[in-house]
This record gives sequence, structure tokens and C-alpha cells, in this order.
Amino acid sequence: MTTIELDNQYVMHTYGRLPVVFVRGEGCFVYDADGREYLDFVAGIAVNGLGHCHPKVVEAICKQAGILMHTSNLYHTTPQPRLAKLLVDASGMSKAFFCNSGAEANEAAMKLARKATKVAGHPEKTEIISAEGSFHGRTLAAITATGQPKYQKAFTPLPPDFKYVPYNDIDALRATAGEKTCAILMEPVQGESGVHPATQQFLQTARDLCNELGAALIFDEVQTGLGRTGKLFGFQHYGVVPDIMTLAKTLGGGFPIGACLAKGKYADVFEPGDHASTFGGNPLACAAAIACVTEIIEGGWVENSNKVGAYLVERLKTLPGIKEVRGMGLMVAAEFTEPIAKSIAAKALDKGLIVNAIGENVLRFVPPLIVTRELVDRAIAIIEY
Ligand code: PLP
Repeated sequence: MTTIELDNQYVMHTYGRLPVVFVRGEGCFVYDADGREYLDFVAGIAVNGLGHCHPKVVEAICKQAGILMHTSNLYHTTPQPRLAKLLVDASGMSKAFFCNSGAEANEAAMKLARKATKVAGHPEKTEIISAEGSFHGRTLAAITATGQPKYQKAFTPLPPDFKYVPYNDIDALRATAGEKTCAILMEPVQGESGVHPATQQFLQTARDLCNELGAALIFDEVQTGLGRTGKLFGFQHYGVVPDIMTLAKTLGGGFPIGACLAKGKYADVFEPGDHASTFGGNPLACAAAIACVTEIIEGGWVENSNKVGAYLVERLKTLPGIKEVRGMGLMVAAEFTEPIAKSIAAKALDKGLIVNAIGENVLRFVPPLIVTRELVDRAIAIIEY
């Protein structure tokens, strides 16, 4: 049987997979089973921040794999607190909890906010407000926080006490937040719905309301974090600091790991037994993440994301049929006036470029942070052709 036949027969059909089998990756390129080269402007959907198989990440994984991959979190291991310190120092948060994915990081964040209100003597404060069009992951609480009914409807009943407001609608946010609000959960830039940056006023209003109501401001930086937007964290564009922040995607340089970071009183809310993950923060994942985060910071890749991202935006604006180009850093969407996104993405794949179509009109570009102007030119030439 071919790989695709095996996949069709034995793997659950949760993904509408395209008919290509990738077997190898290097830098900004992946290669299929026939040795064809593809320029990767999806990068594992914003995961391969340093491109594929970055030598420093590979070295860290290989080295750690030969030393210690896993022990229970009942015992101390060396890489986990080192990674925590690295992230705390870089973000201004105080403490970290490690898990394996973005959805799990958001679960941790929501549990943390819920427990914090109880500890503060307000068990009635249970509501979590998120945005329409948001995406926070696929666990039951994460799809409930995800303000898109299409992801929820097959899985009802959903956990109670979630409310939604249109993204960037300050009046709706003010009208929805109240005495029962436990947390406001937002992406600084909505990714999955087609790259929509928050307005300054919206995030500031969320911050002010959380201060006023004693609620937690949670930023889901699973996609925006670690250089993707041209700053190390998305919130730094706004100067609005969350109480709790979640990371995953780029964190492990391709190796699965998620993190929930918290500051102030939120950093010390969890006690032994409150929350856990068997694999979370294992030495192998943490070693990969230390190598990846260190290289992103020290290698100048955040600045590269900023510069090459601006160039990508300018180049996309010159494409025929463009309605709008939006985004920050290397998290960019091109919206077309006609419903041609899917056919452009399919033709691009044929010609050796991977881009992601969102709906009928939008292409999303989240290439590795190490991408160059020359590779942007190459991608645009393929799309134009
Ligand atoms: N949050 C955001 C903003 C995301 O973009 C995603 C994934 O696309 C998630 C959470 C879920 O992450 P994971 O698929 O690792 O659970």
C-alpha cells in the first residue's frame, strides 16, 4: 500500500489532507517522496520558526535524547526550570507550567483563572469571555472558548459559562464583562480566522476591565508568540500586559511543547494536585525549546521577522486582485476580491510553494522566521505565474 492508501485506511479522517507526502525538511524547504522541493510558507502552521531541522535544535534533541528523555514530574529535571527561567526573563511573567500543545496551554490558563477567583473568595466569578472568530484549540474547553460554532456543534453540550464578543468591539466587551467575569481570553492577532490584529483600544479595554473586575487577562500567544509578529511576543506591540499567557507552536522548534506563563498572584495559584501533565515539560521537549528560544532571541530572528514581514506585505500588495493585505511580522494574510485562494494554493503546491488558504478569499503566510527577501520574491513569482 502507498503512504496515502495507508493513511486513508488506518488514520482517522480529521484532516482534509492534500495529496503530497513530505519526507524531509531543511531550512525553509520540505521535500516529497519523489525528491521534489517545496518552499514552505506554512511552516507547520507557524511551528517551524527556525525552519526545518535547525542544526541547533537537532543537536539539542540528539544530545538530550541520549541523556534523559522522560521522568515523572514528581521529580526535578534539569532542562525544565532552565526553560522556565528563559521564558520568564524574556516575557516579564513570573512562573511557567509546561504541557504539550496550545490547547493544553489554554486549558491550564482557564483552570488557573477559575481557581484564582475561588481562592480570592469569589466562587460566583466563573465566566470566560473570548472573541468571535477566535481559535484556542480542540479540547472541549478550548473549542468552547473558540468563538466559532462550526467547531463546537458536533460536540455539545459544551462546558457552561463562556461568552463571546465580536473581536475589536469595545462596547460589546464592556457590555458583556461584569461581576461574574473570571477571565478575558484573547489572541493579540487572530490567526486561524485570517490574521486579524487587535486594536490598541480593544486590548487596553480588556486590561482595564480585568483590573476593575478582578478578572484575569489571558493572551493566547500560541501563534503570535516567539517572534512571529516581529516582536518576541504579540502583546509587546500594544504595551498591554496579560496576567496569563500561553505559548506552543514555535516554542519547541518543531518538537511538541506548550507553556502557560503567569505573573503576580496568578503565578502561585496552582498547588500540587491542581494540574499536571505526564509528558509536560519533559527533558527532551524542554531541551529542544531552550535551543529554539535561545536561537530566536540571539540569532536576530525577531528583527528578521519584522523586516522580511514588511517586505512580504509590500510584495503581496502588488498581486492582481488583492483586496487587503494585513498582519504583523511574518504573520500575514492576503485577501482577494474573488474566491480564488484555494485555487492559488493548489496551483502553488503544484509549482513547489506551500501556502495556506483560509476560506475562499484569504491566503495565510506564516513562513519560518529565517526566511529571506529572495525567498519572498521566489514565493511571489510562483503565485503570480
Ligand atoms: N491557540 C491558537 C491561537 C492557535 O492558533 C492554535 C492552533 O492553531 C491553538 C491555540 C491550538 O494549538 P494546538 O493545536 O497545539 O493545540
